[in-house]
Amino acid sequence: MYNEILSFTQTQHVLLLAVSKTKPVSEILKLYDKGQRDFGENKVQELIEKQALLPSDINWHLIGHLQKNKVKYIAPFVHMIHAVESIGLLVTINEHAIKNNRKIPVLLQFHIAKEDTKFGMTYDEAVALINYMSSNTLENVIISGVMGMATFSDDVNVVREEFKLLKKYYDQLKETYFKSNFNFKHISMGMSGDYKIAIEEGSTIVRIGSAIFGNR
Ligand SMILES: *Cc1c(COP(=O)(O)O)cnc(C)c1O
Repeated sequence: MYNEILSFTQTQHVLLLAVSKTKPVSEILKLYDKGQRDFGENKVQELIEKQALLPSDINWHLIGHLQKNKVKYIAPFVHMIHAVESIGLLVTINEHAIKNNRKIPVLLQFHIAKEDTKFGMTYDEAVALINYMSSNTLENVIISGVMGMATFSDDVNVVREEFKLLKKYYDQLKETYFKSNFNFKHISMGMSGDYKIAIEEGSTIVRIGSAIFGNR
């Protein structure tokens, strides 16, 4: 499946993020040997263990919920943090980015799904975060766009409406706060079951695990 998904995302100019959580380093290396460089993990412990064993030119994305006290472990190398959903977390990432003399790209996670188990901000919470960011100098985080997860549903209309909502949030933020900011350009949405819909609705990064690596 990897080759088909890769060529599809390439023709759509979308970044394919291979979600390797629970999968061994040997399977990651197989994709690495095919040229895949962007991998996503949702747990800090697993991410740092794999990072230590694998080639240093892999772009590691942290896609899951991140606790503030774990930021220090990934700050030296993480390529992008997808799930920023509070000012406190953003401030902590900035502090550890400074300690490592880095600028860390982050995405703002929105709550778009019906389920209340999923993490993420409302639009107003994101605006508060952006306002905080501009009145306090957080120079070592780069707000690079938005991220969201749709409801786990067979109803494609529900999923599509949620992706449309995330795209709308992105467009509003871009217009209002990031108009001439070229870093704010990503919409991370779409997983194994819904990435084609996500791409139709404007995704720039799809996070795909089981369709590439098999079921977990
Ligand atoms: C596991 C996970 C994915 C990938 O899910 P699949 O259905 O296996 O493609 C994408 N995003 C997040 C945040 C995840 O935790």
